[in-house]
Amino acid sequence: MTAHRITVAGVAVDTRHWIGGARVASAATFTDVSPVDGAALGEIARGTATEAEAAVAAAQEAFPGWAATPRAERARILHAIADGVEKRIEDLAIVETTDNGALLRSHRRGVMPRVAHNFRFFADWLLTLEHEDFETRGHTNHVSWDPAGPCVLITPWNAPLMLATWKIAPALAAGNTVVLKPAEWTPLTASLLADIAHEAGLPAGVFNIVQGYGAEAGSALVAHPDVRRISFTGSVPTAKTIAAAAAAHLVPTSFELGGKSPLLVFGDADLDLAVDLAVEQYDNAGQVCLAATRLLVESSVAEEFTRRFIAKAARLRQGDPRDEATDIGPNIHPRQLEKIDGFVRRALAAGARAVIGGHREDGQYYAPTLLTDVAQDSEIVQEEVFGPVLTLQTFDTEEEAVRLANDTRFGLAATVATGDQERAERVTGQLVAGTVWVNCFFVRDLQAPFGGSRESGVGREGGTWSFDFYCDLKNTVTSPKGWRDHG
Ligand code: NAD
Repeated sequence: MTAHRITVAGVAVDTRHWIGGARVASAATFTDVSPVDGAALGEIARGTATEAEAAVAAAQEAFPGWAATPRAERARILHAIADGVEKRIEDLAIVETTDNGALLRSHRRGVMPRVAHNFRFFADWLLTLEHEDFETRGHTNHVSWDPAGPCVLITPWNAPLMLATWKIAPALAAGNTVVLKPAEWTPLTASLLADIAHEAGLPAGVFNIVQGYGAEAGSALVAHPDVRRISFTGSVPTAKTIAAAAAAHLVPTSFELGGKSPLLVFGDADLDLAVDLAVEQYDNAGQVCLAATRLLVESSVAEEFTRRFIAKAARLRQGDPRDEATDIGPNIHPRQLEKIDGFVRRALAAGARAVIGGHREDGQYYAPTLLTDVAQDSEIVQEEVFGPVLTLQTFDTEEEAVRLANDTRFGLAATVATGDQERAERVTGQLVAGTVWVNCFFVRDLQAPFGGSRESGVGREGGTWSFDFYCDLKNTVTSPKGWRDHG
């Protein structure tokens, strides 16, 4: 191994940026640490405005060639990237787990196959993007999706490659070039993706990676005047900073942000199903933007629901995420663990009761926690914790359930457990959320719009919404019979 290549769980990973089809080192580095055991994984090139400038310049230079590449050829290359991902699922899964602590079994069987699917889906969708011409008083209208230019994509650590490829795949399919800034806590699988994309024949400069801190590398990228789109997944405060930078050049932005989503359990629900849905919210140690962290349960079934919830949660196995039997792994970083514990301490001090958990475990683990006796306007009900911490509140009427559900500044998702279809329709119609699930959770088809209302986001990703964002839409109007005849 050279100084720039590290071995992570037996997989070689280059620690340098990927700019213009070449690996680029930086004078400074930062240490990447595994949340699994606190081991230092290696020194990662730490980008600044210099690398940001070089990457946007490379993306700008590669743009005309990639935009002019026939769509079928772009689609072919994206499928080749998907093939490469599928060949390396084991490598990607173990490196991702080592880097961010999420379950190996989920990465193997769910996440990495889905990463490949992200490329296939947008490659195929690209080939259908031809709007039927339509007529206006004898004139034909032809709508086309023109690529916009270099796109900056900034992503978080909780599902690194999954969230990055939701953006990379449609941006590239549409004919744009990309600069990705992965989260500083989890840069490794993006680097492997650069190898895969290169081997798949993606031309130099079409996909670039600048690693580093948000305040250094990220802020330089989003402020660059040649950037035509910014797509960001992360926290609300960072989104506001990026929005201000984007405003300087009126660059369109897409934001997928935080949430405080509710799970509404009505008295007529299948209670075992409702409990399954509730316990599922501890997935990824609660580090899921969509997590329904506010359990709203009808008073008539609250006691029984809680009893079954405690029994089910007690069977969760917390431990090493590389072990196939583990259900809950570590939290990402000591700083995040501090944050989670701070939320819980303050809630307990304010009168909340921990039905289960409410404390740290050894190492970088937090006990799955359920808090009751929480006020609607309290911090623990209103703010995103991003850890395995749920609250439980009760309601007596449908109206009250909807009022509590909608009473935060977020609007990412909501889940409804009910056995009454008419109630489901009434309630879902009133919920403020980008995604609502009825008697299910986390089902997402890439054709569907995905995003948040209120402070949970700006815009939607998925299907045609992604292409609309990454393209400059153009309507070409032609008068076959001569303009004057038609007036
Ligand atoms: P974060 O905002 O701290 O960081 C996200 C990314 O932004 C990182 O790559 C970071 O380096 C970069 N960044 C930070 N400051 C920047 C700046 N000034 N300019 C440019 N880039 C900057 O968020 P996080 O803690 O990594 O992620 C957790 C958050 O992400 C949670 O709020 C979670 O709900 C949200 N999230 C949302 C979704 C969704 O789809 N809605 C999905 C996953 C996570």
